[in-house]
Amino acid sequence: MRGGLHLRFLIGMLATLLLVLGVMGGVWWQQRAAAREQAQISREAMHQMAFTSMERRGEGLANLLADSLVNPLYYFDMVRIGEVVRSALQQPDVMYVLVFDDQGRVVHDGSHDVPDFGQAMDDPLAGAAVESSELKVQWTDRQVDVAQPIFIGDERIGGVRVGLSSAGMATLERDAVATLSQRSEQAIQRNLLWMAGLFGTLLLIGFAVSMLLSRGVLRPIGELAQAARRMEAGHFDLKLDSQRNDEIGDLIRAFGRMGDSVSRHDRDIRRIAYGDSLTGLPNRLAFRELLDESLQKTLASKAELVLMFVDLDDFKRINDSLGHDAGDEVLGQFAERIRHSVHLGGDQDAVVARFGGDEFVVKLGGPNVRDAAAHVAEAMLAELQQPMLLQGRQVFLGASIGITVCPQDGQSSSVLLKNGDIAMYQAKLAGKNCYRFYSKAMDHAVGRRVQIEHDLRGAWDRGEMKLVYQPIFRLDSGQLVGAEALLRWQHPELGIIPPSVFIDVAEQTGLIESLGSLALSQACQAALRWVREGAAPFVSVNISARQLRAGNLPEVVAGTLASSGLPPDRLHLELTETTVLSDEEQAIKTLERLRELGVKIWLDDFGTGFSGLSHLRRVPVDGVKIDRSFIADVLRDPDDLALTSAIIAMAHSLGITVVGEGVENEGQFAVLKERGCDHAQGYWLGRPMSGSELARRLVS
Ligand code: C2E
Ligand code: MG
Ligand code: MG
Repeated sequence: MRGGLHLRFLIGMLATLLLVLGVMGGVWWQQRAAAREQAQISREAMHQMAFTSMERRGEGLANLLADSLVNPLYYFDMVRIGEVVRSALQQPDVMYVLVFDDQGRVVHDGSHDVPDFGQAMDDPLAGAAVESSELKVQWTDRQVDVAQPIFIGDERIGGVRVGLSSAGMATLERDAVATLSQRSEQAIQRNLLWMAGLFGTLLLIGFAVSMLLSRGVLRPIGELAQAARRMEAGHFDLKLDSQRNDEIGDLIRAFGRMGDSVSRHDRDIRRIAYGDSLTGLPNRLAFRELLDESLQKTLASKAELVLMFVDLDDFKRINDSLGHDAGDEVLGQFAERIRHSVHLGGDQDAVVARFGGDEFVVKLGGPNVRDAAAHVAEAMLAELQQPMLLQGRQVFLGASIGITVCPQDGQSSSVLLKNGDIAMYQAKLAGKNCYRFYSKAMDHAVGRRVQIEHDLRGAWDRGEMKLVYQPIFRLDSGQLVGAEALLRWQHPELGIIPPSVFIDVAEQTGLIESLGSLALSQACQAALRWVREGAAPFVSVNISARQLRAGNLPEVVAGTLASSGLPPDRLHLELTETTVLSDEEQAIKTLERLRELGVKIWLDDFGTGFSGLSHLRRVPVDGVKIDRSFIADVLRDPDDLALTSAIIAMAHSLGITVVGEGVENEGQFAVLKERGCDHAQGYWLGRPMSGSELARRLVS
């Protein structure tokens, strides 16, 4: 146990009191001893005084009697002697009066018949009394015997003895001593009372000081210590104030001010560290803490909890094509819509956080949380169906949502966050703008991605990669004029893996740069073979964003053309609209250098970005490929038809060739032809095929 200040004070106080008590006891003891000694001395002095005064009285009486008896004894006047003796005997303390002759024989004793007359006195004091020729005083413990000889002239005729009783004196003395003792005892008692009073006062003072110390110093210090501990634990609502006008008051007020300032700083730091400035939502750090707390409660109460990972689809496209301000605006509106949808879920304690970029996370609790999560996810997707108004333009966005449930899918925040991410990724793979619940099988899918990443290295060298060529036709004459080179990966275990799966991985890992160059040179060689065999088609090669950014694309292309010997105008490079727009200035420079080489540039997947047709004026391109999503609906959706027609008209006004992608039926073909589109490509016209197959098609 810790010896607090109060305990130490009490111990000190107790020790002081014990010391005072000891000193008082000593003083009292000393007083008693002194009183006893004093009583003894007084008793002795009194005793002395009493007996001296008795002696005096005895001597006086004996002298008086002797004087009165001179004549009666001389004349032997018995009557007179008797009278004198009896008068003396009347005094209360006189025990006896004996008149004796010069031989020591009794002459008179005050009685009428004097029974001892003529007989010698035989008591123990008689001898000395008779023999003494002057006054003789003798003591026994009961009396004082004074003998006075009687003279006539020089002749001794006898003497007289007076016996005075000491009993009265002793009684007086005893009474006096008793009174004295009583007085001194009373004095001692009084002193004792005084000391007890003093001790009591000391005790009271000690108690009062202890109370004052406790209330005035120790309690405030204790409260300050408690406040400090609360602050240490992160609670800053101290509410410390004091009206006291002393140092402790100053300390309490200073402490209160310190608490306020720490609290302010803490709030600021928390706002900075835990909040997302763009959306005002909690950030990743804050969410992790909240999640850990909720998980503990959820697991303890055997309840369920859901995490939803919400990721905007193709957000990069917005940022790249409309700029970062528009991107921020989208994120703000997106956050608001998520909040609104979560609110519909009914869980008052639901938390929405921004994890960074376009990634948001929602925590939901409550009963039937799985159904609630599905409900919220549907509400979110429905909310996003409404177009966002950005810079006066309507933009449609989707989101991919991954959902994981605690405790079924995992019980720790890190596992749940990982699972949510996996589920969200699966929603993306499943075509985006949808939601997916996490399942164990998804782990395998993630594992497969890791395997793909691993196996992709060296796949070309192992001969697992090949190019296929999809024919491109002129719409007016129906003539095969070229082909798009498309990569295929024949994985030894997984079979054919489509580019939509591995191009992304190659992009992210940087493998696309070497893979792209290899594909480019193989496509050029194939095209050169077709040229030699008599036809003059172009080959169109896809170039990824990373290849464009690498900066050496014109050199690579020039080198490939030189080594293959393919005429530059037989090579077309396809770049997606967003690839070009992500760094427009740099891209324009690179594109110009490429065009100087004589190769043609086509914008792929045109219409899916947000660049708008006006962009075509700035970017130096030779052709655009209308994305197949527009062609797919061109017969059903008047908007898509209008857009397709507008692209064609606009491109033609700028002297740009237009290619329609994904033509799957005759109707689409006819519409494109009718609207004046230059080229077309699609399954209805020809699926991707091997180089030799295409060569056969060319000559037939
Ligand atoms: P893309 O450049 O837009 O290529 C056209 C895609 O549409 C090809 O898919 C093609 O098979 C498909 N397609 C053609 N006609 C039709 C049709 O009538 N209906 C439907 N539904 N689809 C049709 P593929 O081969 O799976 O390639 C997908 C994407 O992968 C390509 O889109 C391209 O962006 C990328 N890619 C392919 N090869 C390469 C390459 O060598 N380098 C780079 N960087 N990207 C490549
Ligand atoms: Mg393409
Ligand atoms: Mg395309």
